[in-house]
Amino acid sequence: MTEKIRLTFLGTSDAIPTPERNHTAILLAYGKENILVDCGEGTQTQFRKAKLNLGKVTRLLITHWHGDHVLGIPGLLQTLALNDYKKTLYIYGPKGTKKFMKNLLDVFVFTGNLSLNVKEVDEGKFFETNDFYLESKRMTHGTICNAYAFVKKGKRRIDKNKIKKLKLPHGPLMKKLKEGKNITHEGKKYFAKDLTFIEGDKKISFVLDTSENSKIVPFVKDSDLLVCESTFGSELTEKAKEHKHLTSKQAAEIAKKSKSKKLFLTHIGQRYSRNLAEILEQAKKIFKNAQLPKDLDSVEI
Ligand SMILES: [Zn+2]
Ligand SMILES: [Zn+2]
Repeated sequence: MTEKIRLTFLGTSDAIPTPERNHTAILLAYGKENILVDCGEGTQTQFRKAKLNLGKVTRLLITHWHGDHVLGIPGLLQTLALNDYKKTLYIYGPKGTKKFMKNLLDVFVFTGNLSLNVKEVDEGKFFETNDFYLESKRMTHGTICNAYAFVKKGKRRIDKNKIKKLKLPHGPLMKKLKEGKNITHEGKKYFAKDLTFIEGDKKISFVLDTSENSKIVPFVKDSDLLVCESTFGSELTEKAKEHKHLTSKQAAEIAKKSKSKKLFLTHIGQRYSRNLAEILEQAKKIFKNAQLPKDLDSVEI
């Protein structure tokens, strides 16, 4: 079974939303999982516009606590509670997230009950099933900020041609290989990595709000889709550095160096509302397979 991963861009603006672009929020749907990456102001209404069910959200990944990435959280939680959300909502964010979440819910009269599980995550894998895992990496952005990756694990397949050539018997040895274990046959050792390959693995990375830093490329390496912030055009490289953001050209360089397959630019500065083509072209010159999604655009991977 190769279940698809669907990404919906609910908000693609930078700190100041425009009539066309909402604050950052991206929904990744895979099987029963609906993972929301950031939750800027207005996210819950974006859900409705996209005809998506807010009640299906399973996890919220917070990159950092700048307003444009979190101001939608109280509204989202209030609506979930009013709609009798029965699950536990798992919320992940950088250090400080527990305190921020508490403060956020202390500023108004919260109606209803909601089961929340808030976890502060630093670097590495922080959630794993048989099928996929989530990992994070610390970025550089004025305030503590995480990049995230969703990795769907592939299935290990046997290279039948090699097995035939080596005249290895079917049966228990093949089962071992499928499990990634090395085998011995007639006194000779065979390595699983030489006789098998991984198929159907997918990686989607989210780099939202950071200045250029050496951790990004290794973290997003071989992404099938890299979602990367692009607050500025390359003519404002100095400004990007000063405000700890990336330019579309830098995002494209990251995509190229990391050997990612596709790049989606987001967190677009409002100054580019009328010349989006320009920042997209700057990226495309370096990395052809770049796109600049609109709010409510959706893609299957
Ligand atoms: Zn931002
Ligand atoms: Zn920020």
